[in-house]
Amino acid sequence: MRTQIAIIGSGPSGLLLGQLLTVAGIDNVILDRVGKDYILGRVRAGVLEEGTVGLLDEAKSARRLHAEGLPHDGFSLAFDGRDHRIDLHGLTGGKRVTVYGQTEVTRDLMVEREASGTLTIYDAVNVTLHDFGGNAPYVTYEKHGVTHRIDCDFIAGCDGFHGASRKAVPEKAIGTFEKVYPFGWLGLLADVAPVNHELIYANHPRGFALCSMRSATRSRYYIQCSLDEKVEDWSDDRFWDELRRRLPAHHAQALKTAPSFEKSIAPLRSFVAEPMRLGRLFLVGDAAHIVPPTGAKGLNLAASDVHYLFEGLREFYGERSGAGIDAYSQKALARVWKAVRFSWWMTTMMHRFPDTGDFDQKIQEAELDYLTHSRAASTALAENYVGLPF
Ligand SMILES: Cc1cc2nc3c(=O)[nH]c(=O)nc-3n(C[C@H](O)[C@H](O)[C@H](O)COP(=O)(O)OP(=O)(O)OC[C@H]3O[C@@H](n4cnc5c(N)ncnc54)[C@H](O)[C@@H]3O)c2cc1C
Repeated sequence: MRTQIAIIGSGPSGLLLGQLLTVAGIDNVILDRVGKDYILGRVRAGVLEEGTVGLLDEAKSARRLHAEGLPHDGFSLAFDGRDHRIDLHGLTGGKRVTVYGQTEVTRDLMVEREASGTLTIYDAVNVTLHDFGGNAPYVTYEKHGVTHRIDCDFIAGCDGFHGASRKAVPEKAIGTFEKVYPFGWLGLLADVAPVNHELIYANHPRGFALCSMRSATRSRYYIQCSLDEKVEDWSDDRFWDELRRRLPAHHAQALKTAPSFEKSIAPLRSFVAEPMRLGRLFLVGDAAHIVPPTGAKGLNLAASDVHYLFEGLREFYGERSGAGIDAYSQKALARVWKAVRFSWWMTTMMHRFPDTGDFDQKIQEAELDYLTHSRAASTALAENYVGLPF
C-alpha cells in the first residue's frame, strides 16, 4: 500500500491531523495498536482552548462540540477557605475555553473520518518505522499474523508517550528533558451535577483538589494523592470526604455525590523531546511532550503541533515548498516550552510537595493572593490558560 502520510496513533493528534489532511485532499492512513472501543473508553482531558476549537472547525468535526460543549468564561482559585474568580473573558479581551471531553473530540473525529472513507487500521501489531532518515520511508505492521507494508512520503508519530515513533529514533539524535513530580492525581467520574458551573482549582494544606466536569450532569473530580496510593483503597465515600475537606465550606456543603463509574490514579510528569522532526518523521503531541494536567494543556498542545505540521504539509504539497515542514520543530517547541513552563508553575503553586512546610504553604497562599488581586498577574495567568496564539 502507498499513502502520502502514514500516521501512527489514533488519539486526538493523529485523528485531527488525519482529518485536516483529508479535508485538504492529502492522502493518509492511520494505524493504531488498539481498537476503536478501547480508544473511546479512555477518560482524559476536557478543557479546549479556542485555537483547538478552531482547528476542529477547520477539520469539519466541531458540529456536536458547538451544540454540547460548555463555554467557560472563568474559573476559581480556592485557598485559605475562600475562592477567587479568574475572569478569563474580561482579562483576555473576550477569550474563553470550552469544556468538552477528549473522548467526545475523538468520537467526532472518528465519525468524520469514517464518513470520508479514509483508512484507519486498528489492532495493528508491531508497528515499526523504517528509513525515515532517507527519502523513502515506510511502516510495517502485523495483523491477523500477516505482515503488511505502507510506503509513504512522511511519517507522523502521533502515538503518545509510550509509542513506537520516538523509540525508533537513535538515542543520540534526540535530547530529552524531564521532571517527575512526587505525587499523582486520583480522578473520579460520576453522573452528578458539578458543584460549580466553572472549574475550581483548590490549594489546601491536605493537598490539591480540582472540581471539573464533562457536562451539566457529569462531574470529574481530582484530588492530589501520594504515588503509593492504590485505587482499590479509595472507596467513593473516602474520596468524597477527602474532596470536601479540601474545598471552601460553601462548596463542600453544596457538593452532590453519586456512585463513581471511573476512578484512576495518574502520575504527573513534564517531558520534552527535541527536535520534533527527524528526517521524514515528525513527532506530534504526547509522543514528543507531556505536561502535568494542572494547566489543561496536554490535548491543546497536541492540537497546536498538528496545526504547525498540517500547515507545513499543505505548503509542501500545494506549493512544493519545504519551508513549513523545515520550521515545524522550532515553531512547535517554542510554544511547547511556554506551556511546559505554565503547567509546571501552576503545579508548583497549587500542590503540597513532600517537603512543603508551613512556611512554604504561606508562600503559596501569598502568591495566590497576589495573583488574584493584581490585574497584571491575573492577566498573565488568564492569557496562558486560554492558550497562547499559534
Ligand atoms: C490519565 C490521563 C489523564 C489526562 N488528563 C488530562 C487533562 O485533564 N487535561 C489535559 O489537557 N490533558 C490530559 N491528559 C493528556 C492528554 O490526554 C494528552 O495530551 C492527549 O491524549 C495527547 O494526544 P495524542 O494523540 O498525542 O496521544 P494519545 O492520546 O496518547 O494517543 C496515542 C495513540 O497512539 C496509539 N499507540 C501507542 N503506541 C502505539 C504503537 N506502538 N503503534 C500504534 N499505535 C500506538 C495509542 O493506542 C493511542 O491511541 C491526560 C492524559 C492521561 C494519560
